[in-house]
Amino acid sequence: MGLLDGRFAIVTGAASPRGLGKGTARLFAEHGATVAILDLDAEAARAAAADLGPQNLGLACDVIDKGACEAAVAALLDRWDRIDVLVNNAGITQPLKIMDIAPENYEAVLDVNLRGTLYMSQAVIPGMRARGFGSIVNLSSVSAQRGGGIFGGPHYSAAKAGILGLTKAMARELAPDNVRVNAICPGFIATDITAGKLTPQMNKAILDGIPMGRAGEASDVAGCALFLASDLSAYCTGTEVDVNGGSLIH
Ligand code: NAD
Repeated sequence: MGLLDGRFAIVTGAASPRGLGKGTARLFAEHGATVAILDLDAEAARAAAADLGPQNLGLACDVIDKGACEAAVAALLDRWDRIDVLVNNAGITQPLKIMDIAPENYEAVLDVNLRGTLYMSQAVIPGMRARGFGSIVNLSSVSAQRGGGIFGGPHYSAAKAGILGLTKAMARELAPDNVRVNAICPGFIATDITAGKLTPQMNKAILDGIPMGRAGEASDVAGCALFLASDLSAYCTGTEVDVNGGSLIH
């Protein structure tokens, strides 16, 4: 028996082959969920979804675009009639110092991470409220809690800290409707988000700061997302769960 049998889930930014979103979508499907992968490129999203089994869907959706978020959710509701789980995973980062953050850097990083989380949540909330059931899982970061120092710059820390505030405020507002909202704070996970900009020196410095002595894997984050998406966490809302190998113990 799967923990998400009969549930319908959206995972944004889940086309990246080694990414946290794909790992999460895969584990959800293994646990019985029907999954929609939303990402920038339609073909990549469809291929990633097909990888998880024929019942899953891939759609193009730029989470910065409110109309695109609404259209994707409307298309899924047409087919499924309900959405039980949303994982706001789409995100980008940039390794910049404070004085190097140009307006376009601020906009790109704040928009995808924070605005995207807001718009996608707004698209699914009415249906979840009407059914009195739902779980929203937001991807924050240890960078929000410890002030960066891993890869992303201060604008990334700010966006991810914004996600924590948004998560907690949404959790409070939606709790009476039995819609739970929680955040995951991953530490350093080996994916392609660093886009080839992680030098061997940076990699060593990061690993030296991880008590468990290894980078995390997408499956480490997926397990936490499964817990938060499923009824195992039925009384958890507004929480931030660390998945960081001990790199921040607080
Ligand atoms: P990744 O780069 O492997 O995947 C990110 C995905 O988001 C890509 O498929 C990309 O196409 C998609 N995306 C980018 N902009 C988008 C947009 N506007 N609309 C829709 N999709 C968009 O990244 P990842 O490492 O798997 O990270 C996933 C999430 O976890 C991100 O929010 C990231 O900030 C967070 N996170 C990652 C780490 C880590 O160490 N990898 C640590 C902490 C938090």
